[in-house]
Amino acid sequence: MEPAKISVWTPATLANINVGFDGLGCALSAPGETLIMHRNAHRGSVCIRSIEGANLPLETDMNVASVAAKSLLQTLGNPCGIDIDIIKEIKPGSGIGSSAASAAGAVFALNELLDAGLRPDELLPFALDGEALASGSRHADNVAPALMGGLVLCPPEGAPMAIPIPSDWHLVILHPDCVIRTEEARQVLPLEVPFRDAADQARWMGVFMAACHRGDGMLAAFALEDLLAGPFRIPLIPHFDAVRRVALEHGARAGGISGSGPSTFWIARTQEECAQVASALKTLMKSVNMDFDVHQTRISHQGSRVIQ
Ligand code: ADP
Repeated sequence: MEPAKISVWTPATLANINVGFDGLGCALSAPGETLIMHRNAHRGSVCIRSIEGANLPLETDMNVASVAAKSLLQTLGNPCGIDIDIIKEIKPGSGIGSSAASAAGAVFALNELLDAGLRPDELLPFALDGEALASGSRHADNVAPALMGGLVLCPPEGAPMAIPIPSDWHLVILHPDCVIRTEEARQVLPLEVPFRDAADQARWMGVFMAACHRGDGMLAAFALEDLLAGPFRIPLIPHFDAVRRVALEHGARAGGISGSGPSTFWIARTQEECAQVASALKTLMKSVNMDFDVHQTRISHQGSRVIQ
């Protein structure tokens, strides 16, 4: 018999990764969000019952979790209704896929609750219906790795592709306590970029992909040049230049803006170096009187998963 309730956990995600604007993302081992879905007899009804850990809309049409779930429920013929409880560890507007975790978690949970048997790539369009509400566009660079886990390339056309994970990346994510909405961060981008920058960016993306396939994580880090979006978004990120300088001085090999910011990510080669970078960034944030969160994390093979 299908269960009456299911709990799922969905990871935060790091998108763009400097070289793959709107097309590259990876799942993180932490933080994440828990979504509990309950079945009821009101066919087609989708209700957000509670949200812990963030102040977000409960209205069905305003929350990415309910919009995504409703889209899938309809396609499955509205066999029941659902109530959703969300426990957020990922702050909305932080740039590590808060809305994507809700959208991915909701469709993953519904698929499991109804035993519908859809694969993660088949769930993606429904999750994107939800994510589009938050970001104003249907890009999958957060939602695809949230569902599938690992490092994922979303081509302009066709299904998302799993890419080998650079195994020696230890990540520090620094979230200065301010909100940059994805929609706002899109408005600072130019409509056109110089031909030379576009050509060089394609070459860096090529090096990154080759390095991932060769298992050379440090070459993959070396390739992380951001010539297209970074220069326009850096002014939005509080103290970015100081953060970069301190991270690199304390052992980070590379880094940049996480998604549309304000979080930044920094790549260290070992657990020890990762702890040093995290500690130096904490000291910096305190010295400039900025509230912040720091996560020491890794790329994770696992996307959304059932926890109960
Ligand atoms: P992030 O990259 O952290 O997801 P976005 O700007 O893309 O940031 O999304 C945050 C926006 O999405 C906020 O305006 C928030 O109110 C809205 N939103 C709606 N539902 C959710 C949800 N379940 N989780 C997170 N954000 C949500």
